[in-house]
Amino acid sequence: MIHAHTNFPGGSVRDLRVEGGVIRFAAVRHESVYSMWWQFALNGPGGPVRCIWESTDEVLGSDGLDLVVPVYTTAGGSWRRVDPRTCYHNPRVREFGFMVPTAAGETRVAYCYPYDWDRVEAFIADVAQQPGVTVREVGKSEGGRPFRVLKLGQGERHLWLTARHHAGETPGAYVLEGAVRELLQHPRWLASMTMHAAPAMDVDGVAEGWYGKEREPRDFNRDYCARPCRPEVRALMAYAEGIGKADLILDLHAPAPPDFSFLVPVKESSLSLQEWVATWEFGRMLDALAPRSCPVRVMDAQPGAMNWSGETMGQTSTGWFHRRFGAIAATLETTYHHSHDGRLVTPRGWLALGKAVAHAAAAQSGLRSRPDVADIELPRSRVPRFAHWQCVHWPQGVTLHEEGQWLEARSPNPDGYAWVFSPRVLAAEAARFRYEYAGPGGALAVHARGYDPDRDLSTGDTSLTTLELRPTRRPRTVTVASPDPWCQLFFRMKHLRGTLRLAVG
Ligand SMILES: [Zn+2]
Repeated sequence: MIHAHTNFPGGSVRDLRVEGGVIRFAAVRHESVYSMWWQFALNGPGGPVRCIWESTDEVLGSDGLDLVVPVYTTAGGSWRRVDPRTCYHNPRVREFGFMVPTAAGETRVAYCYPYDWDRVEAFIADVAQQPGVTVREVGKSEGGRPFRVLKLGQGERHLWLTARHHAGETPGAYVLEGAVRELLQHPRWLASMTMHAAPAMDVDGVAEGWYGKEREPRDFNRDYCARPCRPEVRALMAYAEGIGKADLILDLHAPAPPDFSFLVPVKESSLSLQEWVATWEFGRMLDALAPRSCPVRVMDAQPGAMNWSGETMGQTSTGWFHRRFGAIAATLETTYHHSHDGRLVTPRGWLALGKAVAHAAAAQSGLRSRPDVADIELPRSRVPRFAHWQCVHWPQGVTLHEEGQWLEARSPNPDGYAWVFSPRVLAAEAARFRYEYAGPGGALAVHARGYDPDRDLSTGDTSLTTLELRPTRRPRTVTVASPDPWCQLFFRMKHLRGTLRLAVG
């Protein structure tokens, strides 16, 4: 008789049950529209057990689930992958099936290699013993657990690492650990460099086994604003303000199930070309230094990552560190499952990638020789840069052109789509824009995002105004509702077929 349960720290699934010897379950969607992460235990006589993960349409990137290979451990041994040949995804019935070779006693099964709260605690306690390391509890989570930041070294250059803004993205935690452990091997580097590392941003999510992406009311990695709702984000921002310096920040994540590892710079249109190139110079070094067991290639950079944010643009940790301190800032997405060469990754590969992160940071700081990157091309920057406007998304079928304060969007076909942002700060009573339109139709959504002039940050609140576009004879003025005394405007143009001209204020 087999028994399935989650009665252990980090155990997390829903609808777990045994039906005819088959384990059925779904992943927890705690306060989120998405699920992905899960972990549970089986107790039984041993032998192969069929498991079926249900409601897979809720999983972020569910169309790539056929590349998922879950992991298991028996009798407290090391985790390993289940046999990939037993894994299949059937999107029609929203099920992912796989076989687990259990042993007598307890077998644990998880979406990918776990990095549970007890490991976070053990890692911090271990590193705290090392000379030159301080551990500071800078805040508490909503659940009252400690939020801690490690500090290594006392050099002039400040390197920041954060992991698990999305709690279930465990590869990032291994990368962070690998980087910290490698830096500790190089006291000479740490004389010139200081590293601040936050291994668990969503503390409660890590402890409870939540996936955490897009957790309501605001994703942890969209909370870098004047009124953060996440105590950990508020604490990290205050701590970073106290330090006052950031030369490089890497925010460590894991991507959708089928994705390889890749680097994402700060929103492309908010970077100068020089900053774009500097970010990719770091990316090229990481590409050259990354281990075979977990490669990160510049060529795997995803253009779609440009479209990750909407009106929360700039509220990511990397966006904030770049804006506030001028840091070279990037998100590193480390694959859960496969590398580009078809190889399945392991924690050892992730730790080795962390080591490469430390070396790339040292090379960038001139503390070790730069690797040869001559055969690694920089990705081309393809976003138009303007003096008064920024692109939130890649324009699709729309040509954008700036003329003084006016932005002109021309779309010859009915699918024209563009999303732009005006950094100009408007008082609520003057929250208005002018437009001219020539064409048969289209829609314009205008998000007014609250702005805090004292902190030079968005407040995190937005209001939305929508209008159907009709041809105009002369410029029209539209006043929008602002959620705060000050705001900035975002314009999303949909089904544009014609020419739209926009000016703010
Ligand atoms: Zn993430």
